[in-house]
Amino acid sequence: MSDAKKSNPNIKPELESQYNQAPINTVPAVVLIATPILALFLVPWYLWTHSVGLGTWAVFAFLMAWTGMGITAGYHRLFAHKAYKAHPIIQNFLLIGGTLAVESSVFDWCSGHRRHHRFVDDEYKDPYSARRGFWFSHIGWMLRNYPSGQHDFKNIPDLTKQKLLRHQHKHYGAWIIVTNTVILLSFGWLVGDILGVFVLAGLLRLVLTHHFTFFINSLCHMFGTRPYTDTNTARDNFILAIFTWGEGYHNYHHFFQYDYRNGVKWWQYDPTKWLILVCSKLGLAKNLRKVDEATIRHAQVQMQFKKVNSRLEKLGMQGFNIHADFKAFKDKITAEYDSFNATIAEWQALKAKVVEMKKTEFAERLNEVDELMRAQFQSIESKIMEHGKSLDMTLRQLKQISV
Ligand SMILES: [Zn+2]
Ligand SMILES: [Zn+2]
Repeated sequence: MSDAKKSNPNIKPELESQYNQAPINTVPAVVLIATPILALFLVPWYLWTHSVGLGTWAVFAFLMAWTGMGITAGYHRLFAHKAYKAHPIIQNFLLIGGTLAVESSVFDWCSGHRRHHRFVDDEYKDPYSARRGFWFSHIGWMLRNYPSGQHDFKNIPDLTKQKLLRHQHKHYGAWIIVTNTVILLSFGWLVGDILGVFVLAGLLRLVLTHHFTFFINSLCHMFGTRPYTDTNTARDNFILAIFTWGEGYHNYHHFFQYDYRNGVKWWQYDPTKWLILVCSKLGLAKNLRKVDEATIRHAQVQMQFKKVNSRLEKLGMQGFNIHADFKAFKDKITAEYDSFNATIAEWQALKAKVVEMKKTEFAERLNEVDELMRAQFQSIESKIMEHGKSLDMTLRQLKQISV
């Protein structure tokens, strides 16, 4: 046990010993250890001794996207979070992509993931708790049968109802062998390079997809910013978004997990959200769930207040509080905070009123209600944005004071 663990008062010795004695998870351990070692030797050898055609690289790129987004758009946002509804064509396409990724059945994956959200960072309940360090949250949690990795599927009743998903879970081994073999053979035959497709679009793609997904549980809980919440270790990280088909905006995702977007700003790199959006435009996806702008801004502004206050506290400890300018600055922040809270209260009251009106008004008058409220919402939302801007300014001033 490390010194950090010894000194952590939350560590429970009897549970910890269960962790230390967890048996090896044989099949996943062999796959997860053997495939990267194999790739490390086979891929350079193959590239050195063969010339790889454009067709093979195209298959590699297509399968990277299909399996990667089979996990992000399929396993994650569709099955685990129900962030949108997909046409059966899309649902099955993503299910096959997710199966090709060899990251366990939808049942296992989603049950574990829902636990991850529910108990995030808990050393004993979060299956890939970042508090157990990089190795555990990245891959270690799959190598042994840890108590936190046992699923009873009580948290996925919506998925256990689906016949095809039950079939995938029951015959998972056959699913991964058949899908990988049939698809790789077909593409290999199509581009006339079966061996190349197996080495690059099979093995290399599998290892890269594995570790890019695992980055979300490890690095996305370690490096990056926390614009929406600091109640857990999840981070927003643009660079990781590039490798993870947009899942790098993990701080946002942990705060607003049902949103079909992870990169919530229109300019944030999130190909998974664009794929879902395109599908919805084509009539292949619907009910895309989104958190409204004001709620998102609310979370951001609250985090900014928190940051300002902790900076002020630090400055206070350095003896700045005797300075008259500093006192005025503190008052300004407090006034800003009060006015922000008043706006939020107003906005929440308006939301409650809309719900109430929609309950009591006749159905044909709902449009009028929407129309009436839209203007009021807009004015309050713009007020919230104003608070945000003025806070940004005060933060900048604070940085100048502290230099
Ligand atoms: Zn997470
Ligand atoms: Zn999630």
